[in-house]
Amino acid sequence: MLLKDFLRPSLEALIEESNVVKEDKPLKSLAYVGMPCQIQAVRKAQFFEAKSRQEWPRRIKVTLGLFCAESFPYRELVKLVESKGMSMAKIKKWDIKGKLLGYHDGGVLKISLKEAKKYARENCHYCLDYTAELADISVGAVGSPRGWNTVITRTPLGLAIVEGAIREGYLETKEVNEGEGGLALLRKLSKRKFKGAWKNKAKKEEKGAKVMHLDTTHEQDMEKLLSQMTVEHRIDELLRDVVEPGLCVTCGACEASCAEKIIKIDEDGMPQKLKDCESTDCGRCYALCPRTTLPIDLIEEHLFGSRRYQFEKRILGQYIAIFTCRAASGRIRKRGQDGGVATALLKYMLDHGIVDAAISVTQGEKPWYPVNYVSTTGDDLFRSAGTIYSTAPTIVAAKRALTQHEEFSKYYSFLKSKGFLPELEIALEEAAKAKKGEEVVEIDEEELRRRRAKIEAVLQRISKPAVKMMIEQGKHEKAIEMLVKEK
Ligand SMILES: Cc1cc2nc3c(=O)[nH]c(=O)nc-3n(C[C@H](O)[C@H](O)[C@H](O)COP(=O)(O)OP(=O)(O)OC[C@H]3O[C@@H](n4cnc5c(N)ncnc54)[C@H](O)[C@@H]3O)c2cc1C
Ligand code: SF4
Ligand code: SF4
Ligand code: SF4
Repeated sequence: MLLKDFLRPSLEALIEESNVVKEDKPLKSLAYVGMPCQIQAVRKAQFFEAKSRQEWPRRIKVTLGLFCAESFPYRELVKLVESKGMSMAKIKKWDIKGKLLGYHDGGVLKISLKEAKKYARENCHYCLDYTAELADISVGAVGSPRGWNTVITRTPLGLAIVEGAIREGYLETKEVNEGEGGLALLRKLSKRKFKGAWKNKAKKEEKGAKVMHLDTTHEQDMEKLLSQMTVEHRIDELLRDVVEPGLCVTCGACEASCAEKIIKIDEDGMPQKLKDCESTDCGRCYALCPRTTLPIDLIEEHLFGSRRYQFEKRILGQYIAIFTCRAASGRIRKRGQDGGVATALLKYMLDHGIVDAAISVTQGEKPWYPVNYVSTTGDDLFRSAGTIYSTAPTIVAAKRALTQHEEFSKYYSFLKSKGFLPELEIALEEAAKAKKGEEVVEIDEEELRRRRAKIEAVLQRISKPAVKMMIEQGKHEKAIEMLVKEK
């Protein structure tokens, strides 16, 4: 048995986010980096917070949306690459600039967008948002010269962050090109995506499926939204209405919203039902999914204080100012996808205590497989810079960081104060090794008994009767959990 298994489940969150386990400070606020559809999910959760009885979405303080034409399921991208006689492990950087480009030591793998589109995620065909219209700050490449980013600030907070980063030398700026190849191109691509979504919706609906989120963007849809908090809208209905017809954006909002741990996002990013739902008054998974209802009008009013009455009239969404920027640091620019602006902005936010951590993605064990990543330092941000063209359920990581991490911090402080830190460190080391596929030496029974006895002895000394009972029953994890809550 490994020590980490002994200390589960309190350690589970940490094992996944072991890069954050450096300090016992809870994460109170986050910057969230995501695709436009994921930002929609975060905004819906924030808008719906009181009704859904969850407070963690509010602590996503800054949303940084990336421009997005489409994404690729990981398996499909592997298939596409292998069909060209290449392997994912050889690709050093992916990019989309007129073509899908895979840079490797021997040159560049070039795939036409027409061919690549066949491997894109089906739900992306019904997506109307190119520039992350609900984010505080949107960042992309289109609209600016090579090596620079187009930055759209939409809220006063977003504007203050970008202006602060410029003022303090995190970002360089140049004049925005309003014409061809500049914002005119950005508007054109956004409009094309918007119109394409409606066209594809009509085609899909001819085949009998319903693309609900495009029909529910207006005020009257509030009623509909509220009516979804019922027994008629639970996980089975979510699978039927969103996942099975290919509309799921793999955001993870359903898993994050389920207090009963009934939903789990699988390796392909798809929600799976782990057991039957017996709730009679929940419906949160269905209501918070960005592909059931998407009352953009109401969310915008809540967010910006006004609504767009016609999408076409404000094709880039509501915004305050648009900039052309790049990171001032050459190191970040080199590592970043385009101008490194996303990374530089996140660094500015961490350095200035605007947020405690940033949620984004990095490559997992498999090359270019996206995994959730929590950054609390500049080095973490540097590690997670660059674009991965598949998506991860980052909302699950955001919730975990804001809830379980807090629990863990208490747990960590508790263990530290009782002199258990060496044990904890061993457990974390084991977890990190296991994650990398390295061999972990199992603790022999004798050693395990010794450690267990040490933990028990300390717990016995300080425990209340209820906790003692747990220990007597061999429920150590429960005992620790109770102590942590007591603190
Ligand atoms: C699927 C996808 C499609 C895109 N399509 C377009 C497009 O059509 N037009 C366009 O102009 N730009 C597009 N982008 C955005 C572009 O690739 C750059 O991410 C953006 O220009 C920011 O560049 P940067 O140099 O500032 O980023 P960096 O400084 O390198 O930072 C990028 C940040 O994004 C995070 N990140 C990377 N991949 C993901 C992901 N899959 N999910 C969540 N976070 C992620 C990183 O962890 C990092 O924090 C797309 C991005 C993605 C992920
Ligand atoms: S649904 Fe697809 S195209 Fe739309 S934002 Fe999400 S990943 Fe991008
Ligand atoms: S408990 Fe709520 S969130 Fe979980 S599956 Fe049931 S209805 Fe969905
Ligand atoms: S089904 Fe779950 S993962 Fe898929 S879009 Fe809805 S909330 Fe997101």
